[in-house]
Amino acid sequence: MKNAQTLQETLSRIDGKGYKAYKDLQGTYTFDRFTLFIDHVQGDPFAQPSRLRVRVPRASSGFKGCFTRSTSRTIALCDYLTRRFSQTARRIAKGVRGTGKGGLILIDTPSQEILPRTSMEVTESHVEARFFLGLPAQGRRIASRDAEAMLLSELPAIVDEALFFHETQHAALTAHVESCEDADALRSQLAELKRVAFVAEGALLARASGIDSHPLRQGAIPFSSPASLRIKVALPNGGTISGMGIPEGVTLIVGGGFHGKSTLLNALELGIYNHIPGDGRERVVTRSDALKIRASDGRSITGTDISPFINNLPFGRSTTAFHTENASGSTSQAAGICEGIEAGARLLLLDEDTSATNFMIRDEKMQKLVASENEPITPFIDRVKELFAIHGVSTILVMGGSGDYFATADHIIQMTDYTPENVTEKAHTIAREHTNGRVIESAGPLPPITHRRPLDRSIPMEERRGRVKINTYGLYEMVLGTTRIVFDDVEQIVEPSQTRALAEAVRLAAPLMDGTRTLADVLDQVMTTISQQGLESLSDILRGDLAAFRKLELAAVINRARTLKT
Ligand code: ADP
Ligand code: MG
Repeated sequence: MKNAQTLQETLSRIDGKGYKAYKDLQGTYTFDRFTLFIDHVQGDPFAQPSRLRVRVPRASSGFKGCFTRSTSRTIALCDYLTRRFSQTARRIAKGVRGTGKGGLILIDTPSQEILPRTSMEVTESHVEARFFLGLPAQGRRIASRDAEAMLLSELPAIVDEALFFHETQHAALTAHVESCEDADALRSQLAELKRVAFVAEGALLARASGIDSHPLRQGAIPFSSPASLRIKVALPNGGTISGMGIPEGVTLIVGGGFHGKSTLLNALELGIYNHIPGDGRERVVTRSDALKIRASDGRSITGTDISPFINNLPFGRSTTAFHTENASGSTSQAAGICEGIEAGARLLLLDEDTSATNFMIRDEKMQKLVASENEPITPFIDRVKELFAIHGVSTILVMGGSGDYFATADHIIQMTDYTPENVTEKAHTIAREHTNGRVIESAGPLPPITHRRPLDRSIPMEERRGRVKINTYGLYEMVLGTTRIVFDDVEQIVEPSQTRALAEAVRLAAPLMDGTRTLADVLDQVMTTISQQGLESLSDILRGDLAAFRKLELAAVINRARTLKT
């Protein structure tokens, strides 16, 4: 059995040797309070840091059963421990030493969202952190003294602080698990309440900036709900709370520019996730099958039936199995909706800021000028009601620019100075009193959603030495073998770890696409594997940098593969 002393001896033996000799460290070491696994040693100081794990027996860790009483709590505990490990490592590890990435001790860095991740595992028997450590070198020679400091002094200090329970964290940890459990409970009650989203009284929706998802610190106006949409919900930990419950059906968010419409919609988009205490959106929840739809001209579309929205294209081009390498704003938005419903979306979120005007509306004057035979688009306004009536798909739409939507919306919320008001009756009266000559356009009743069957080699992946090389870049790009997929219009991805997991999921989905299964079946099969075998099972190596994603994002990524064939 190897222990801390054997580790020290190996380090002394390989000191000053070529970097490859670090491979001798691979293995399992028993320390006083934990077990260290050195799973994979990097090939050189510039490569991705080495993969390590530390396992603490659950009993000695001190994290009591109450923190893992439910799945929500366990996820929250793992999330909390990942954050704590990350902060502690940043404080205790000395940072870059010598060449390349030497000196770094890193764990996956979570965003404002609490997600299931592979970075931390808590079971009845243990607490285990999966992290990265850059083994230090001078030039390309092993720097054992630095390695010893990292592995035998910094790491044990980090573990002591981050993976053992300390009374001082009791309040913060309790708040973390309780808040997460409450958010899940809130979300699970939406269907029964016939609501699609909930925004609690006092929630803080505004963000620090367009590129900073931390809460706005100064001048944030807390959310206050309009009385007529106010509901009360009982939570397992937080008592009974009240807030705005957005009903099923079609909801319009109107209001002057800069009055907080998009901020509300953005909070709803991310209400599919739970947020950390202090975020301001802890009690903003949306049905988990909510999908943000936006225009994305230039994307490819493969075999999607967009005929609910687009018909009679020039030169008789098919829209029941529409192909393009270069979508327009309107066709991209039509495809996004049809593909989303195909994959299971039941709530659509749209913002005028990111929509194609001609997809959203065609007004009276335009109808007079351009005859409907010459307009392939059935605008969203003329389908939105049917989407709910026929497919049970609700919509929340931000629209400050066209009152033509009043008549089609079941509920109309006006934002004034960041505060919502229910103006449904007023708007409906205006719609009745100011009828115009706009006629409802539609090419017949809403057709059913068509299911596509992806063909063999829809995502071709060249193997090298028996493996597909997978790379991801930031949130919105992945390369599998020689296939590159870009999906920067998919707004509900929040962490690069989700993108890494999505890339592994696409690799898993690729061989299932062989012409026999529908895309929905392929997606279900992958998601079932994940729910049965865990996120870890996505990768053939145990890696700590994967985070959970939804079926809808996996569908969105596959739909944007330019190699897709149906
Ligand atoms: P709209 O979509 O109605 O034009 P936005 O949602 O983009 O407006 O909001 C405009 C600005 O107001 C943004 O800078 C946003 O951060 C800020 N804001 C939104 N809601 C609040 C709030 N509740 N308190 C303070 N500032 C807010
Ligand atoms: Mg806006």
